[in-house]
Amino acid sequence: MSTIEKFNEHVMGTYGRYPVVLESGEGRTAADENGKKYIDFGSGIGVNSLGYCDEEWADAVCRQARAIQHTSNYYYTKIQADFAAKISEVTGYEKMFFGNSGAEANECAIKIARKYSFDKYGKDSKRYNIITLVNSFHGRTLATLSATGQDVFHNYFFPFLEGFINVEANNIEDLRNKADDTVCGIMFEFIQGEGGVMPLEKEFVDEIFRICAEKDILAIADEVQTGAGRTGEFLTSKLFGVKPDITTLAKGVAGGVPIGICLAGEKCGNVLTAGTHGSTFGGNPLACAGGLAVVNRVSSKEFLDEVKAKGDHFRKKLLEIPEVEGVDGMGLMIGIRLKTQKAADVCKACLDMGLLMLTAKAKLRLLPPLNVTYEEIDQGTEIIRRALK
Ligand SMILES: *Cc1c(COP(=O)(O)O)cnc(C)c1O
Repeated sequence: MSTIEKFNEHVMGTYGRYPVVLESGEGRTAADENGKKYIDFGSGIGVNSLGYCDEEWADAVCRQARAIQHTSNYYYTKIQADFAAKISEVTGYEKMFFGNSGAEANECAIKIARKYSFDKYGKDSKRYNIITLVNSFHGRTLATLSATGQDVFHNYFFPFLEGFINVEANNIEDLRNKADDTVCGIMFEFIQGEGGVMPLEKEFVDEIFRICAEKDILAIADEVQTGAGRTGEFLTSKLFGVKPDITTLAKGVAGGVPIGICLAGEKCGNVLTAGTHGSTFGGNPLACAGGLAVVNRVSSKEFLDEVKAKGDHFRKKLLEIPEVEGVDGMGLMIGIRLKTQKAADVCKACLDMGLLMLTAKAKLRLLPPLNVTYEEIDQGTEIIRRALK
């Protein structure tokens, strides 16, 4: 029986998968079971920020596996303390909670916003609503699905959670109208990733922060996709010149071990107290070791400047392709608008020619490893050019 047959016999069919079995990887290149190689510009959806099996990263995870691979959060570990201190130094957030995924980081953010409001204004205030944006994506758990502002996700699993209000992205009037005194948080992505690499406008972001300051609402940035160096700053909030009360990270921050981090600023860093939240695996030593290896590398100014420069180079190259209508995003988060062709068809053609990438709505989406080389960018772009012919 082939791997694909065995897989499909036993694993739920929740994904439309490409008929490729990936077996190993090195640098920015993956290899399938037949030895065919692929340049990877998807990075497992922006996860493998240092590419495949980076030496330093793999050493850090292996060393940790041989020292202590897991302990419950009823005890302390040095690696979790070291990782938290490093994240704190890099982001300026003093407090954080560790979970295992983007959805869990967002669940934690939602719980903090609601409890912050509960503690301060009481249960009778009914100040529990969270504004999220139309076309957003916040995860697949019931709460984060409820938060996600796309009707296609609000199906089958009724009843969804109440307490989420959708505002149109970049519509300041809509935001002003809906940010009433029932609202305790406003959650948003600076660049909507799954929603099609759609950046928010600076004026809209400024209005979110103005309203949050005026009404004691928590500003919650979902940086699960945009964070950890992806856009050329460690946090994309820096590019917008704002400091959210809460920022969530996941995907790329630990380079391929599962993690989710909910960062909280001084206003709400102590809202969650003993017994109010938890996670068996959260802050797992392997995840923290992988995370520390990533953050040590990607947080330096030189590294982040390179991400910006590579992103600029990539955009320039892509815009030279006649079939490309435009390129969106920041740094190495790239959405390609196509003139006539279907993103899914182009993605498939690239796969056949040895290039892995993603789509988001009608666009091609590229989230290459952050240490991708200029040469690899040129090689990948050449494949995209040929696929678009
Ligand atoms: C991927 C993603 C999530 C969900 O992360 P999981 O790890 O799949 O739970 C949440 N928010 C954003 C912006 C994402 O891109």
